[in-house]
Amino acid sequence: MNNGLTTAGLLLLNQLKQTVQNHPKRITAALATLLLTAGGGAFAVASLAPDPAELPLTTVTQTVASLAGDATLSALVDAPPYSLYRSDTTRGSDTAESMLQRLGVADPAAAAFMRADNTVRQQLLGRTGRSITAETTDDHRLVRLTARWAPDEGSQFQRLVLERKDDGGFTSRIESAPLTVGSRLAGGIIRSSLFAATDAASIPDAVAVQLAEVFSGDIDFRRALRKEDRFSVVYETLEADGEPLRSGRVLSAEFQNGGKTYSALWFQPPGAAKGAYYTLDGQSMRRAYLTSPVEFSRVSSGFAMRLHPIHKTWRAHLGTDFAAPTGTAVRTVGDGVVDFAGVQNGYGNVVYVKHQNQHVTVYAHLSRIDVRKGQAVEQGQKIGAVGATGWATGPHLHFEFRVGGEHRDPMSIARASAAAQPVPAAARPDFNRLASNMRVQLSSAAQILQASAE
Ligand SMILES: [Zn+2]
Repeated sequence: MNNGLTTAGLLLLNQLKQTVQNHPKRITAALATLLLTAGGGAFAVASLAPDPAELPLTTVTQTVASLAGDATLSALVDAPPYSLYRSDTTRGSDTAESMLQRLGVADPAAAAFMRADNTVRQQLLGRTGRSITAETTDDHRLVRLTARWAPDEGSQFQRLVLERKDDGGFTSRIESAPLTVGSRLAGGIIRSSLFAATDAASIPDAVAVQLAEVFSGDIDFRRALRKEDRFSVVYETLEADGEPLRSGRVLSAEFQNGGKTYSALWFQPPGAAKGAYYTLDGQSMRRAYLTSPVEFSRVSSGFAMRLHPIHKTWRAHLGTDFAAPTGTAVRTVGDGVVDFAGVQNGYGNVVYVKHQNQHVTVYAHLSRIDVRKGQAVEQGQKIGAVGATGWATGPHLHFEFRVGGEHRDPMSIARASAAAQPVPAAARPDFNRLASNMRVQLSSAAQILQASAE
């Protein structure tokens, strides 16, 4: 794994940081441009990265038209009449004409070819969200159209190339090439919700969910987000020809909540089986218990909990209800052994997990149970799915935390529970180097955010 920034990259970052501090308002656009064009490893932190110097860099708050293809710059410089480039994404409702029009192409022959060509019809028309770039002549005739997409898993992407031939006709072909790992620096300010802020910064949902999960031990994202809370994040992107197609892991992040600042860094000690999140001073962020048995999501975060008339008559409500659609995965909050898995009157399908120190957690109203009595389970393991079995008026997870038979607040128990081991001493030098690089990046992101907010 490669946690090192190149010296040039570090210098660039430091210069940027100083410039930003001196001229916070004026520098935003210039900085965004620099970040876009630097490309030379300034943000090379991804653990999967083959070579930091080759990592493309994308940015900060919005998508920009990408100059795809190697010949771009030389074509612009050497060869007037010039070429035009424009990028977009495909829409399910696209026809050949509407797609070309968005790309600034006026070329009936190209449209006719697209309508007739099987590859284009199967892979482009009627497909949603595929990244497309068109190169045209200065009078808007199509020279080349390139589309890129990646399956959800796997390390390859597909590239469809439609090109004008010398005789004036067109050809199409499909190629396959490896995705490269890059990273993106972004940030946001909470106005209404976490997802509203990540949407505004073009941060994918998968990254928003990771943010909420990473900081869940410190911040209650369901109830305690405040207006003006803010965050910065560096996350992996999987890129095709320099264009991000998918997001990967959150590499580091900082979250200001109610005036307190929390930070996190993904680190895999050399020789360790897996990585984990640590605070920037090397303490583990992993606790013996998760704060929530349901992953944070766009749906559950904005889902108002219905009142619970049945509980009121059934008995005093001793537990926490998590509103979520039927089928949402339910996970055990800590390592333990399944003590009961089956049906009980009011609870419907229910699982009891026994942990150490006479701690027991209860997961009720499940639509499905995925574990058996006596089975050992690990923190985060899926044990079933949200439902409305038993005495439930609508789909939700009823969750209880019992200590020696007494009901306790799951959030406080989780927060007070023991943390995993800090970064081992032997890995400290590596960790500290990575942490100081990340501090620079996060502070750059925070400066950009501050500048653009003013
Ligand atoms: Zn309940």
